[in-house]
Amino acid sequence: MKRDKIFAEQGMAGHELTSMLDAHKTGDAQWKQGKTFGFVYHPGEQHAKLSEAYRAAFQYESTLNPSAFPSLLKFEKEVIRMASELMHGNRHVAGSVTTGGTESIFLALTVAREQAREQFGEKVQGEVILPETAHPAFLKGCQYLSLKPVVVPVTVDGKADPEAMKQAITSRTILLAASAPCFPYGVVDPVKELGKIALRHKLLLHVDACMGGFMLPFLEDLGYPVPGFDFRVAGVTSISLDAHKYGYAPKGTSIILYKSRKLRKKQFFIHTEWQGGIFASTTFMGTKSGGPVAGCWAIMNHLGREGYRDLAQEVMKTTLRIRSGIEGFKSLEIIGNPEMSLLAFTSKAGNIFNIGDALQRKGWHLDRLQFPEALHLTVTQLNIGMEEEFLRDLAEVLGEEQDLIKEYKATRISIHIADTLTRIFPSIVVDNLTRWAGKVMNRTGGSSMIPQAALYGISASLTNRKNIRKLITNLLDGMY
Ligand SMILES: *Cc1c(COP(=O)(O)O)cnc(C)c1O
Repeated sequence: MKRDKIFAEQGMAGHELTSMLDAHKTGDAQWKQGKTFGFVYHPGEQHAKLSEAYRAAFQYESTLNPSAFPSLLKFEKEVIRMASELMHGNRHVAGSVTTGGTESIFLALTVAREQAREQFGEKVQGEVILPETAHPAFLKGCQYLSLKPVVVPVTVDGKADPEAMKQAITSRTILLAASAPCFPYGVVDPVKELGKIALRHKLLLHVDACMGGFMLPFLEDLGYPVPGFDFRVAGVTSISLDAHKYGYAPKGTSIILYKSRKLRKKQFFIHTEWQGGIFASTTFMGTKSGGPVAGCWAIMNHLGREGYRDLAQEVMKTTLRIRSGIEGFKSLEIIGNPEMSLLAFTSKAGNIFNIGDALQRKGWHLDRLQFPEALHLTVTQLNIGMEEEFLRDLAEVLGEEQDLIKEYKATRISIHIADTLTRIFPSIVVDNLTRWAGKVMNRTGGSSMIPQAALYGISASLTNRKNIRKLITNLLDGMY
């Protein structure tokens, strides 16, 4: 089939493009309505304008060469220092501004691998011990860096199990990981216990505070109970915190901090023999826009600790109201004891994903969890004041549950048939089946529109987990 070319010979007029701007967003999550949980962390129109002005002013500058743009170096150094103060780091703590939590975690893993190479040589594959609730960025980093992830189950409260993690230590172990809090349940891992284990076994300990870094310190100020997780805990060697989440900075900003400059140096890349000159970079990225770090610096200076504390206070009030509302429904159950503004809940009666799809039809966007199946809320500034409407809609949806059960049974049956087929037929047929399923799902118009109950239903009932991997691979391939 011949495809039309879309890269035009003649450019479009500026006013034409500007007039289209809002129209591009019509199919997107309408997060300004306050019905989207997570994804967008917005500080409010007034504050956003300021960081936007800084971001735009430095958008074409590059952070790669600090001597060409001392302004960007100043922003980066001050953002690192503010983050370090927030994490109670002493004067030895050093870090980098990165493009996101994934890069921050990737760099912490790189440092661990360098350490492993120094200790064991190139041949031995270093091992990283992770609670199963740790963010997939750790697994992604291990895959890219050829480290071996050792995934350890969490306890019934959803927290890392220090005893089980200790048991998993071998002579090749290099790093322990903890989350503050973990994304699925919003609970903070027992960092103090893990710190003791790390010290006793001379291991590195990374705390992933991508979610909590810009929230937990302010909740502590406000008198909420916050378990120790930062540099005050002995044994913690690195911390990642995302400014582009509760730091309300533009997307593309996270911070990785190390206990010492010696550790940070292990992440640098330097090549002295290139024809193009001596090449040196501190993080994974090469050329990157100065916009995000400028916007991040501006929002941190503009809000100040007081501004963040006020936002944290309101977000937490909203979260607690939603939580008590959910606890009021007999059929619903909160998982664990969330310590921040993320929470997950399951249904004891109907199918939770059908409840999620019904909420989606009312405009609400929630995440889906599995093992166990649950809905997940990340409450942010945008959701303040939306709590009563959410709980009313939830009550209405729960009233409809009988119908939802019927709908669910129908998906269940077709999934069962598909699963039986995949077991009977050879892999080439399975390939085609997943490709076909991927196409059908894509045709429903973008990932957010895919009936999530069906997708997760398929995922939960396919007996061979490799088939769900194939399905997702083909979904992604089709989407782009
Ligand atoms: C978001 C998140 C990450 C990954 O960060 P990105 O910015 O998406 O790359 C890692 N850990 C936790 C706990 C997170 O919430």
